[in-house]
Amino acid sequence: MPLTERTVTSPKKFIIGTGLLANMADYVSAFGDNALIITDEFILDRVATQATPALEAAGIHAKVEKFQYECTDTEINRIGELAKAQQANVVVGIGGGKTLDTAKAVAYYNKLAVVLYPTIASTDAPCTALSVIYKDNGEFDRYLFLPQNPDAVIADTDILAAAPARFFAAGVGDALATYFEARACYASDGINLVLKKPSRTGLGLAKLCYELLCENVAAAMDAVNNKICTPALEQTIEATIYLSGVGAEAGGLAAAHAVNNGMSAVPDLHHVQHGEKVTFGLLTQLVLENAPKEEIDEVIRIIKTVGLPLTLEDMGLTSFVEAEWRTVASIACAEGDTMGNMPKEVSEADVYNAMIAANAMAQRYKAEG
Ligand SMILES: [Zn+2]
Repeated sequence: MPLTERTVTSPKKFIIGTGLLANMADYVSAFGDNALIITDEFILDRVATQATPALEAAGIHAKVEKFQYECTDTEINRIGELAKAQQANVVVGIGGGKTLDTAKAVAYYNKLAVVLYPTIASTDAPCTALSVIYKDNGEFDRYLFLPQNPDAVIADTDILAAAPARFFAAGVGDALATYFEARACYASDGINLVLKKPSRTGLGLAKLCYELLCENVAAAMDAVNNKICTPALEQTIEATIYLSGVGAEAGGLAAAHAVNNGMSAVPDLHHVQHGEKVTFGLLTQLVLENAPKEEIDEVIRIIKTVGLPLTLEDMGLTSFVEAEWRTVASIACAEGDTMGNMPKEVSEADVYNAMIAANAMAQRYKAEG
C-alpha cells in the first residue's frame, strides 16, 4: 500500500522560562505523585536543594538518581528496576541528550509518564520520540522508536544560558539545517522522522525555526557569552530545543543529516559535535541544490555569529584523504538514509564533489573574515 499519511507529532507540553527547576511540582503533578528523577552529576545538588523539597511539599514523593553517563540497555534496565522498586509513576530526566534518551526509554519500557529538563541546547533529544541506544563499549547500538513524544519538556533558561557556548552553537547548527532539510523533503514528497509523509505544518515549524535564528542569533550570543537570559536567547532556545525537533520530526531530514552520518567514517572528526557536522552537511546540501547566493550568505552569517567551525580544517581535519571522503559519500547515500529525501536523485559522486565544493566555499567565506 502506498504511504499517504502526513503527520505532526510533538511533546504534549513545551514550557520555557526562568526558574523552572524550582517549579517542578507544577509540571509533574499532572502525571503522578511518585517521581524518579534521573539527573546528570553536575546539577545533582541543585536538584536536591531546589526541586525535591518543593515536590515533597506538594505531596509528591521523589527520589534522585545519578545518571551513569551512557544510554545503554544496562543503564535503562538499572533505572527501570529502581522505578519498579520505588513504584514510581512518573520519570523526570534532567541533563544532556543521553540522560534524556535514557529517561524516555525507561518511561516507555515501564509505561510511565516522562518529564524532561534539558540542560544543554545542543541536540533534538528533548522533544523527539526517539532514543539512541549505545552498547556497553560505547559503540552505536540502535535507534529505539517510541510510540509517544515526551509528556512535557521544560526549558529552564537559567540552566540553558549557563551551559558552555560550544554546545549552544552546536544546537544552532543542528537547528539551522532543519528548514532546508524539511524544504527538500517536502519538495520530494519524501519520508519524515516518524516514517510518514511530511506535513505542511512540519514545513511551517521548520521555517519558523530558521526565522527565529535569523532574527535573534547575534543578540542570543551576547546573552550566552555573559551567561544571562534575554528575550533573544529565549526565542533562540525555542528554535533549537522545540522547533528544530518537531520541525525535523514532521518535516523530515535530507542531505545535511545524511552527510553528518557519513562523516562518522573520518577518524579526525570523532570528537566533533553532531550540530557541527550537520552544519557542514548543510553547506554540502546547499551546493547540491545550487542555492541562491543570498541564502548561502545568510547561513554563513549565522555560522560565523555563533562561532561554529566553518571549514573542515576548523573542525580538526588534518589531511583530506580521498578514500575516507568517498566512504562518507557512500554512507550518506546508503539505502534508507535521508539523502533519498532530496528532490533530485543524488549519486555518491555528486555528494563527494559537493563536499569538496562546500569546503572550498567555506574557505572562501572564511577568508572574507
Ligand atoms: Zn540533528
